[in-house]
Amino acid sequence: MPQSILSAEPTIRLAVFLGVLVAMVLWEVAAPRRRRDIPRVIRWTNNLALVVVDTILLRLSFPILAVGLAAMAQDRGWGLLNNVDVPVWVSVGVSMLLLDLAIYLQHVMFHAVLGLWRLHRMHHADLDFDATTGLRFHPVEILISMGIKLAVVAALGPPAVAVLLFEVILNATALFNHANIDLPCPVDRVLRLIVVTPDMHRVHHSVDPRETNSNYGFSLPWWDRLLGTYVAQPAKGHEEMKIGIEQFRTRRDLWLDRMLIQPVRGPASGPALDPLISVKDAE
Ligand SMILES: [Zn+2]
Ligand SMILES: [Zn+2]
Repeated sequence: MPQSILSAEPTIRLAVFLGVLVAMVLWEVAAPRRRRDIPRVIRWTNNLALVVVDTILLRLSFPILAVGLAAMAQDRGWGLLNNVDVPVWVSVGVSMLLLDLAIYLQHVMFHAVLGLWRLHRMHHADLDFDATTGLRFHPVEILISMGIKLAVVAALGPPAVAVLLFEVILNATALFNHANIDLPCPVDRVLRLIVVTPDMHRVHHSVDPRETNSNYGFSLPWWDRLLGTYVAQPAKGHEEMKIGIEQFRTRRDLWLDRMLIQPVRGPASGPALDPLISVKDAE
């Protein structure tokens, strides 16, 4: 069973990725939420080129990725869930929940630790917010994330199918919750009870540090609500809010070469690093 999952993995991932990307792009054209400031051609070519760089570097850097390691752990009896007797649906459910919690915590850490923020701020430096923003991560952040994910998989021993489901859903929700689409408010209100919506995640891309440091979730919205990092709406409203960070606001900064060297440019401390100070000042 794990072997058949592994051989089907590339096809499933590519099909879901392309299908959801095309669907979001069409939806953005049909019902946009915000006016674009930057021509699509600049952002899309560079954001998509970054995906290619990220994918190649990830394949070259790791001999085995998360689904492969989960299959190996299942075969060899590594990790917690491979050593307890629970029904498959329980271990699949628990695994998907805990993997989602792990990336929530990892996201908080990438905001809180200076050196990691240097890598992660590139995701925030996109000057518009659309489906391709959801793909814009520095390759070193991608590699560190995979390292953390592999450690979680080794310790937890999740079923390979749970890891595949988790990654495919995460990929789809990242495209969806960055999309520049206009969901009617009542629909958004119901949807965000179970999934992070574009209006919820857009708050995280605000230049206002109190908003940048909120809504860390990617798939499930519950961790933000449980752990006190939830902000329902941006103070200036979705149309008027400023997207990005204060550093890196020129069009040239959106090019691939500038994105790649961004972690070593300028001071580490953008306003996003001072949330506690700003909140305390405000109180
Ligand atoms: Zn972030
Ligand atoms: Zn984002």
